[in-house]
Amino acid sequence: MAGMKFDYAPAPESRAIVDIKSSYGLFIGGEFVDSIDGRPFKTISPASEEVLAEVTEAGPQDVDRAIAAARTAFQTTWGPMRPADRAKYLYRIARIVQERSRELAVLESLDNGKPIRESRDVDIPLVAAHFFYYAGWADKLSYAGFGPDPKPLGVAGQVIPWNFPLLMLSWKIAPALAAGNTVVLKPAETTPLTAVVFAEICQQAGLPPGVVNIITGAGDTGRALVEHPGVDKVAFTGSTEVGRMIAKSVAGSPKKITLELGGKAANIIFDDAPIDQAVEGIVNGIFFNQGHVCCAGSRLLVQESVYDEVLTSLKRRLTTLRVGDPLDKNTDIGAINSAAQLERIRELSDAGVAEGAQRWSPPCELPDRGFWFPPTVFTGVSQAHRIAREEIFGPVLSVLTFRTPDEAVEKANNTPYGLSAGVWTDKGSRILAIAGQLRAGVVWANTFNRFDPSSPFGGYKESGYGREGGRHGLEAYLDV
Ligand code: NAD
Repeated sequence: MAGMKFDYAPAPESRAIVDIKSSYGLFIGGEFVDSIDGRPFKTISPASEEVLAEVTEAGPQDVDRAIAAARTAFQTTWGPMRPADRAKYLYRIARIVQERSRELAVLESLDNGKPIRESRDVDIPLVAAHFFYYAGWADKLSYAGFGPDPKPLGVAGQVIPWNFPLLMLSWKIAPALAAGNTVVLKPAETTPLTAVVFAEICQQAGLPPGVVNIITGAGDTGRALVEHPGVDKVAFTGSTEVGRMIAKSVAGSPKKITLELGGKAANIIFDDAPIDQAVEGIVNGIFFNQGHVCCAGSRLLVQESVYDEVLTSLKRRLTTLRVGDPLDKNTDIGAINSAAQLERIRELSDAGVAEGAQRWSPPCELPDRGFWFPPTVFTGVSQAHRIAREEIFGPVLSVLTFRTPDEAVEKANNTPYGLSAGVWTDKGSRILAIAGQLRAGVVWANTFNRFDPSSPFGGYKESGYGREGGRHGLEAYLDV
């Protein structure tokens, strides 16, 4: 019947599968220990503001202790171990992640706010895939192209963000261990819980004590970790601002460093693109994970001749997105991860209006409690607007237009970032020509936000340096 819309009945995933303890210590030397000089803090569900658990903010002495445990493990167990035996542990971790995948997905959605559909179908399967992939490399390092007998670096200090908590952990830990290093990892302060369960998984896998150490905390703990002289390698994913500070602090030291920072990716739609597919790609590009994605397609560049068609179709599609309970299997867009991030998204969106762009959102009811932002599209955006230049890290799309391929490339590259880009066109030759001119670490063609452990990921310019994933990702953890 014209105009009639059937609604979905609620389909909530059960929380019964997760058993969240009221408080967690630090995972150091293979066991959960009380902090020496830290203090407790709470982690909440951003969808309801309910307190989920109390975790520990590790102090400097805790950081010392974790690094010492990692050093001992490097020297006594993990370093000397036969590579084929290291591989067995990584395979075992991958299988346990698969076995506990439903629990991990529910916990990730609770602590982060992302829809269960994504944590279940994207995050957790990719976590297992990363461990499987790097398990395969552990005994084949001499064939990785880094010399006949590449050596590990030692102890890696790793700091990760809150947007893909367990997935970023796997991007950091899997290659580090496969290359024979031991690690101390700090998850983000708003999303510590899946990292804590990962510590339990390390115990379950019988991983020798100290190979993986998980210390929770915020910026101070992160700083103490990356600045510690006992760390041989620093790996950081997060904001460009903090990345810059870390690069300065390790400069002049022998530490090896990789930085994966922000982005402001262009998603380019040519007039010969399959428009319906492109619209799905635009939606996936910016509304996946509430837009909390460093490689999000946050700048849409549409060829003028198909602008009206693309915008009409995009707006119609956005009216079908469901915003709400992350644990509901029908939900497309979950909660914004924190009050601070919501504030940043609001501030930049208000700046968009103040600078003269037109703001549009589909009608949608947002829950009363928790942190929420509707899917938002800005049209009439110029390259000078803040919403075209700065990373919003939320469900906000800025739309610009172009007439010629050269203009598209010029606008796409007109950013201090260079993490990713998308190209939509029917012509293979155009894909190759445009991709070759884009200054972006990853270029997707007729798709967006696709990830695979065998494919290297990383940026140009202010998006950072070094690559994670694939054979390239091993280099960062080897003395080459
Ligand atoms: P952030 O850089 O402040 O935090 C990322 C991680 O670094 C967290 O674990 C944090 O505790 C830690 N940290 C903070 N200060 C530190 C310091 N001085 N030394 C060492 N570690 C430190 O990022 P955020 O506050 O979570 O988000 C702010 C902005 O960062 C976002 O709006 C977005 O633009 C960007 N961001 C990018 C990514 C990405 O994947 N590239 C991920 C998250 C956030």
